[in-house]
Amino acid sequence: MSQEITPEATSRRNFLKRFGITLGAASTVSGLGLLSACTNDDEMVSLLTTDGKTVQVPKSQMKIDLKKMEERGREGLPGKKFVMVIDLAKCRNARKCMAACQGAHHLKPEQHHINVLRMENDKRTGFYFQPKPCMHCDNPPCTKVCPVDATFKRQDGIVLIDNERCIGCRFCIAACPYSARVFNWSEPKYVEGDDDRVYDIELNVPQKKGTITKCLFSADRLRIGKLPYCVSACENGVYWFGDANEDAVTNGTSKETTRLSTLLEENAGYTLMPELGTKPSVYYLPPKDRLFKYNYDAETDDWMKLHDKEAEAKS
Ligand code: SF4
Repeated sequence: MSQEITPEATSRRNFLKRFGITLGAASTVSGLGLLSACTNDDEMVSLLTTDGKTVQVPKSQMKIDLKKMEERGREGLPGKKFVMVIDLAKCRNARKCMAACQGAHHLKPEQHHINVLRMENDKRTGFYFQPKPCMHCDNPPCTKVCPVDATFKRQDGIVLIDNERCIGCRFCIAACPYSARVFNWSEPKYVEGDDDRVYDIELNVPQKKGTITKCLFSADRLRIGKLPYCVSACENGVYWFGDANEDAVTNGTSKETTRLSTLLEENAGYTLMPELGTKPSVYYLPPKDRLFKYNYDAETDDWMKLHDKEAEAKS
């Protein structure tokens, strides 16, 4: 079926070209990971544009330049140095961050790119909750041990994995001091539309059995100027995210933007295990003046349900 390229389609083509996708008469594609493509009965493909709109493109005229997609995924965003600040005083173990991340990356419930841990050094100290993503280290031990260059660090500071290259040796899991990586032991969670979906290095979707997966700082969202999935999903103001080169971070809940340096200085921010020299891009603010009652039910130790209990009491 031949399709006429209308002016509208031409502008779409310009858009698609920017992102390494070209329209051509002979080539076909039935999925586009980066832009969430799907095919319907009349052979049109729906693409999600950078501004969140859906456009229809004839399937018969679309071709993805996979090489270009991989290249831009490896290069990252020029001039940026992404950074996250996690305010431990505000984390109430709501786990909305985890749910959003797992949904976006098609993870099974037992797989975590970000995990909320209950921390307590001593029974006298009380506990706090600590979300733990990949630290996107500036000096990452994980990338140095990969024998096939499947995991790498980009110019914007994000450490990614190319699951098309990963051979599942798990050297990187052993090298990471933050236990930030997980192995896909089984077939990935089935999500409708994944069958024909083109693998996206910035989303790690579809997941692939026998390979490694981990937090990506939502590189696909950053490319379109949005905050990471976890940051946007949090309702408690835990996450700040931004660009260290601009010395600016934005809170995912309040949308307030502030200076990174001031936030860290005034609150005595810190990184995990600085003695290792990994230079994390994730900072923590100490769990001072926590927003929850941290001695609520020591006998049952039912801390996982804390958030639900508080919500129940309020309703
Ligand atoms: Fe690599 Fe672990 Fe550092 Fe992430 S936290 S960059 S996986 S060493």
